[in-house]
Amino acid sequence: MGWFTRDLTCQGCGQQRPKGAVLVSLPQKGTGICADCGGRWAADGRLCAVCGARVHGTQEVAYFPERRGFGHYDCAMDAPGALKVTLP
Ligand SMILES: [Zn+2]
Ligand SMILES: [Zn+2]
Repeated sequence: MGWFTRDLTCQGCGQQRPKGAVLVSLPQKGTGICADCGGRWAADGRLCAVCGARVHGTQEVAYFPERRGFGHYDCAMDAPGALKVTLP
């Protein structure tokens, strides 16, 4: 029991999630962002974790592990470690 190699730990909420519930996988082995966290971000108005402005649908999205949030990929230069992500 407890052999959950296919689960990922969500960096947003810290929960273990089966791969099917993960929105994006992150380069750190076994981590990702779950669909709940992505949905919450969308419901909150897609505000950038760096500059606070809204991320429009046509703009590239990044995940900022240090800030535990999504934002503009254009803001990544102010946030080392940002990861470009593609949201469905
Ligand atoms: Zn999550
Ligand atoms: Zn921004």
